[in-house]
Amino acid sequence: MKAVETLKVMGLPEESGELIKFLRAFRDYTQYIINQIWNEKNIPSVKTLHRRFYHELRGKGFRAHHVKQIYYYARSVVKAVKKSNGSKPVLRMLTARIDKYDYKLDLENQELIVKVLGGKEVKIKLVAPKERFLKYMNWNNYELMIKYDGSRFWICIEFRREVKQYNIRSVLAIDVNFDNVTILIKDSRRVIKVKRLSFPLRRALCHRIWIERIQKRYPKRWKYVKGIREAIRKHGRRMRNIINDSCHKIAEEITNMALKHRSLIVVENLKNLRANSKRGAKFNKKLSLWAYHKLLSYIEYECLEKGILLMKVNPKGTSSLCPKCNNKLIAFNDRILRCSRCGFIGDRDVIACFNLISKCGVSGVTLKAPDQMQTQEGMKGNKDEGMNFVIKCYKT
Ligand SMILES: [Zn+2]
Repeated sequence: MKAVETLKVMGLPEESGELIKFLRAFRDYTQYIINQIWNEKNIPSVKTLHRRFYHELRGKGFRAHHVKQIYYYARSVVKAVKKSNGSKPVLRMLTARIDKYDYKLDLENQELIVKVLGGKEVKIKLVAPKERFLKYMNWNNYELMIKYDGSRFWICIEFRREVKQYNIRSVLAIDVNFDNVTILIKDSRRVIKVKRLSFPLRRALCHRIWIERIQKRYPKRWKYVKGIREAIRKHGRRMRNIINDSCHKIAEEITNMALKHRSLIVVENLKNLRANSKRGAKFNKKLSLWAYHKLLSYIEYECLEKGILLMKVNPKGTSSLCPKCNNKLIAFNDRILRCSRCGFIGDRDVIACFNLISKCGVSGVTLKAPDQMQTQEGMKGNKDEGMNFVIKCYKT
């Protein structure tokens, strides 16, 4: 598995004049090649371009890999524009793609040395907090892009890393709800762990309600009065912060657990979320969908970083069918569901997790339905109150 990330930072060149001169030449010669090949029937291959333009461009002071990048760029522009039947493109932006042989990157000192025209070098200071650079210390860097937007230089560096993957020993299912995220880890023999983390959608929703109240109180004015607009913005910001912070923490915790137990992570596929019957009318759909999306993207990101496999499954029926006999479940109370055919009783979120696991069908982790003793065992040693309640409920 390969992880690819791009670091985008501002750059302060020591000799900006030299860098701009190079960017201009890069753009102008890309344009020159575009002009030369625009009316040709077929877009020439890189090999043909090399034969036709190499010596000419080298004569202008470009290095061999600069020239190669110019061919690639000119070809891709022509190809894209012809595909959409556009007219001959005119390049305006000052951007250049630089091969890894044409720059030296010093992450520790946040410094970049780029080779430009005529064998000259330009030293560029990279501006960003140190942690952002240290993160990529053990990654491989590939091409980079330099852009000049008229006042500032931007550097985008592509990093890649081989992520080692482990043999899957267990499956970790995640069920997201209005006020909690339930996690269940199970291997072929038993439930390893059940955990409930709080998810502050209700707290975030309070801010939404405030926004609506303000808008209702000033139905005509709220858009135009600065103070009211500010108040709305403040609530919006708090709402986003609450969700962002908790998503980040939850994703960290879940992926660390998955690493420890060598789990495959299984989640509901977002595309089918609307069909989930668990989310009733009261549920603020837009907000929860957004929050779920956020959480999932954080989890996906952490999985990529840590080499964890992630699987998305269709959530249809996960919160309404018996994990043991597939019969329709009925509500015992608002948290517990019961199967009328086989008598299985369980917490609705835990049931959803079991059903997610049985849907992912990983071999080696035979995911047959649990019996009640098993679910209890998994819950032991967990201080979560909701879980204690479930255990008590089993005993009666
Ligand atoms: Zn059943």
